[in-house]
Amino acid sequence: DVRVRYCPSPTGSPHVGLARTALFNWAFARHHGGTIVFRMEDTDKERNTQESYDAILDLWRWLGLTWDEGIEAGGPHGPYRQSERGDIYADALARLRESSYTYDCYCTTEEVDARRKASGSKVMGYDGFCRDLSEDQRAAFVAEGRRPVVRFRMPDGSITWDDLVRGDITFETEHVPDFALCRANGDPLYTLVNPVDDALMGITHVLRGEDLLSSTPRQLALFEGLKEVGLATVTPSYGHLPYVMGEGNKKLSKRDPQAHMSLYRDQGFLPEGLLNYLALLGWAISGDRDIFSLDEMVEAFDIGDVNPNPARFDLKKAEAINASHMHQLSVEDVTHRALPFLQAAGVVGDPVGDADAQLLELAMPLVAERINKLTEAVDMLGFLFVDEADFTVDPADAEKLLTEDGLAVVRASYDALAALDTWSTQAIQDALQATLVEGMGLKPRNAFGPVRVAATGRRISPPLFESLELLGRERSLARLQSVLG
Ligand code: GLU
Repeated sequence: DVRVRYCPSPTGSPHVGLARTALFNWAFARHHGGTIVFRMEDTDKERNTQESYDAILDLWRWLGLTWDEGIEAGGPHGPYRQSERGDIYADALARLRESSYTYDCYCTTEEVDARRKASGSKVMGYDGFCRDLSEDQRAAFVAEGRRPVVRFRMPDGSITWDDLVRGDITFETEHVPDFALCRANGDPLYTLVNPVDDALMGITHVLRGEDLLSSTPRQLALFEGLKEVGLATVTPSYGHLPYVMGEGNKKLSKRDPQAHMSLYRDQGFLPEGLLNYLALLGWAISGDRDIFSLDEMVEAFDIGDVNPNPARFDLKKAEAINASHMHQLSVEDVTHRALPFLQAAGVVGDPVGDADAQLLELAMPLVAERINKLTEAVDMLGFLFVDEADFTVDPADAEKLLTEDGLAVVRASYDALAALDTWSTQAIQDALQATLVEGMGLKPRNAFGPVRVAATGRRISPPLFESLELLGRERSLARLQSVLG
């Protein structure tokens, strides 16, 4: 049975790479009818925050990345916070220490550095000094009051695995120094706790970012030790997902604002749109198709199809994909999802008043198919709901369109609209068409822009004639009048 894990470290705000890794684990597990275990790798007391922990859970829920076992779900292998598994790691460490797979190391970092300098060696990391200490040497170190770290003894030769994404990968172990499993005070390190938990939780497939590629030979070697001491039965398969490149073809880093998942949620991306986009960072459903549902992804997902080459992050593409998902929704659904954004921006109240609810029902059909993200509904609808006293015209748009010529258009429109008997979309359209296009000989593009800016305050709005109808005669005319001064 397939068992995968989400195992984020709750440090900082969740980023694109983390979510992409989670999505691929999810799709892989769901495709195979497997189990997803969620554990928190919160052993780094200095860097963990509760805020990050909460943000991760919140994001997973919003995205709909479900799990079956672990944090909040419980299960037979708990606790699922590494910070609560100290006894388990102490036991694992004690067993490994009894075995030939580890040795006690008394060196300080300074000593290791000094030896490297003296020998001119380019190999970073530990030089194996304490590998074969005599009893006397050990006793001398202990007498000095030194406290050892437990170090893993890398085997000679090479380590090869068939990476699920990248095929055969081989590391020569002479380039993989013996590594510490704990600090001198006994605190276990990532090098120990991550494979120990993968073993105890029965993880069969580890899908994670390429940045962890170099820890895999260590973990594979450690698994042999864990088997020896009775903590593991099988070694998982490993697959390393490609890097995500940002601006300037550099790895997307936490310093890039675009790397943070909160950005997309705050801008009103849909979870399904965002996940569709994240899926494309290394995977494709077929050569000529970018838009798909999560069900389709689950159905088609094959880890062997993941492209090992770096994926390029492209915000424009993310928006376009989100837009496609948005435009597949019903107007009611878009309204429902846009509502929290409209309320947060104060466009409508919370709860929504009756009059606003009615207006919203009439207005949403005009915007639902024109917006790419939910926050655009705020920008597009603000003009309808704003109190007249607070209505303003965007200064940059005014400068562009309410020029002398533009104001002449607004004046002529005012006169034509003021003379209307019926205030309907059709009547408004006929009047403006006759006055501006036929009467003044303007191209439609030039004709309606100034009216739009005067009435809605912006160059981008829902369709003009419908907007004016919804705005009503009185408010429309007052707004045109006010730019005429
Ligand atoms: N907690 C580790 C990280 O977030 C997980 C590494 C792994 O997937 O093995 O980097």
